[in-house]
Amino acid sequence: MSSDQQEPVKTICPYCGVGCGIKVQPGEESGDVRFMPWGEAPVNEGRICIKGGAATEVVDHEDRLTEPRIKEDGEFREASWEEAYEYVADELERIREEYGPDAMGFFGSSKVMNEENYLLQKLARRYGTNNVDNCTRMCHASTVWALRTSLGAGAMTNSMRDLREEADLFWIQGANPGEQHPIANSQYFRQAVLEGATVIQVDPHANKTTRSFEIDDTDPHQHLQLNPGTDIPLLNIVLKTILEHHEENPEDGWIDEAFVAERTEGFEDLKATLEDFDKEAAAEECGVPLEAIELAAKQYATADNAAIFTGMGMSQHACGVDNVQNEINLALITGNLGRPGTGVNPLRGQNNVQGTCDVGAMPNVLPGYQLVDDDEARESVEDVWGFEIPDEPGLTNVEISYEAGDSIKGLYVMGENPVMSEPDANAVAERLADLEFTVVQDIFHTETADYADVILPATTWAERGGTVTNTDRRVQRMRGVGKVHENTRHDREILTEIGTRLFDKGFDFADPEEIFEELRQVCPSYHGMTYDLLGEEGLHWPCYEPGDEGDPFLYEDEFETESGLGHIEGVEHTPPAETPDDEYPLILTTARLEEHYNTGTMSTRSPTLNKQTPENFVDVHPADAERYGIEDGEYVRLRSRRGEITLEAHVTEDTTEGVVWTTPHFAAASANKLTNHVLDERAKIPEYKAAAAEIDVD
Ligand code: SF4
Repeated sequence: MSSDQQEPVKTICPYCGVGCGIKVQPGEESGDVRFMPWGEAPVNEGRICIKGGAATEVVDHEDRLTEPRIKEDGEFREASWEEAYEYVADELERIREEYGPDAMGFFGSSKVMNEENYLLQKLARRYGTNNVDNCTRMCHASTVWALRTSLGAGAMTNSMRDLREEADLFWIQGANPGEQHPIANSQYFRQAVLEGATVIQVDPHANKTTRSFEIDDTDPHQHLQLNPGTDIPLLNIVLKTILEHHEENPEDGWIDEAFVAERTEGFEDLKATLEDFDKEAAAEECGVPLEAIELAAKQYATADNAAIFTGMGMSQHACGVDNVQNEINLALITGNLGRPGTGVNPLRGQNNVQGTCDVGAMPNVLPGYQLVDDDEARESVEDVWGFEIPDEPGLTNVEISYEAGDSIKGLYVMGENPVMSEPDANAVAERLADLEFTVVQDIFHTETADYADVILPATTWAERGGTVTNTDRRVQRMRGVGKVHENTRHDREILTEIGTRLFDKGFDFADPEEIFEELRQVCPSYHGMTYDLLGEEGLHWPCYEPGDEGDPFLYEDEFETESGLGHIEGVEHTPPAETPDDEYPLILTTARLEEHYNTGTMSTRSPTLNKQTPENFVDVHPADAERYGIEDGEYVRLRSRRGEITLEAHVTEDTTEGVVWTTPHFAAASANKLTNHVLDERAKIPEYKAAAAEIDVD
């Protein structure tokens, strides 16, 4: 491969869900892949953040896996692909024969393209199990649950473009676009703010979003710095303030009576829930002055177009579904849905987090969110696939990890790193060690790969083609420059080979376009898309027939619920499962950094990114630092009931007294050794955002 032979190709940044277009081109040295800006890229028009600009640094990193490896007597040795494929196929067959298909679990990944996640979930179902899930479970499973149940689709209701053009107010709760979606923030949301939009930020931590909008608690912008886990009481204050005002001043229109009457159900339930709600007591629990929350309620209710952004600060709680439902309640009673500049908009953290769910890499749904236990939907997919699909939902990834060694005997991991990404990570590692057979398919030897029996070396994002679906439902094509290491395989090639060895037919695809052609047959919202029609702009789903232009915003006429109505439902406060006590008097909460990416597999190997922040740290409020005798920059031991890590203390007012804040990116001080594995009952998302903790100073 050399620059003489190949023109740059247009592809999509592999990091966050904004979907920025970039170009890549082979460099002069063998294996070298260069980044180039793509000036006309539809989402970002050539702009790029630090992660996007550094994305090619890991493509030919010296740590790349370049040959299959098989574990023998506790050590990995090189193997041929033939030996590795045969071993995997034999072990998958053995586990199915000895224990049945539900003894296997399959993990897809939002770092991997639509075609590959589609193939993985099809392989799991052909194998005979719905035990297939992906890392979305860890970030927005609760958001997807609430949005699907109450509005119809588990996705952003609006597009970045209409939000920039039409929104007058951004309500940003538990999301941090200034850090996590920098181009969306600077190119879309900040532009709207410069033209007069107001920002209400609800977050326990001051961050780059606070600073990018220069939120200084003077009118009009506000930062409501609440205690972790008090989002429901805060939103209930907002809702009750709006209800009270409307009762006395209906002419102000804080509640959109016509919208509520014609397009929603459940309003009376909300009123009943809030009837005896005590706003003063709730404000105290939130740690935010009541007047500030009441002002925010007024600002939201009186904006012409108010848009909610929601993130993992809302979803990663045992009450995650209720948290998001309360945001939906706010949007529905004020009529802020179904038109540009409004809505409830989850900002997605990985470049294909939306698509991985769209294509059915989940235990309860098939492609297009068709329920596995809906006979009609399941049979329509069976007609295309030509085999029977199990009709009961399978286990989620956290459940699979916790069943490892018991009912789960084998695990197939494509691009995921559960030993770092799942809560109570020490316990996860112990359980994975009890599995009989584990496959890890990845580009690097991850922390999870230590527990594998066979490691399959995959190609990176820059080497292969396919599609990804960004945070505002835009499906875009990725294009690759070809393999940097000849003995690696594209994820789809590996799955095609294993599927074909196990089963007579159904996995023999020559290229990603062939896979996409089958995917669109079974995924109604992608049915109108082809590679040609996606072109360079991409298309927003739903796109039901070829020629449809896709919908930048949803629910203009009706919601996609059974009744066609938006569902309002009052919710009551559920405190975090762990609250501070004498033994663990602090609240630990976690969040990501701009320069790093999830479990750090790629970003900690990127010289540019790692230079910014080379190790983990914990933010400690000055009052707590004084109480514990901690100096800024000193190393401390942070511990919870599940483990401990040693890391540098940053003494800062970004966090509040009693709350310590850290990040999940670094293996040497992995925050998920401390986090709590308690799950939201419905969405099965873990409570990463609140755990009881203590600090020790040596
Ligand atoms: Fe990549 Fe997201 Fe940065 Fe865009 S904003 S360059 S998609 S990490």
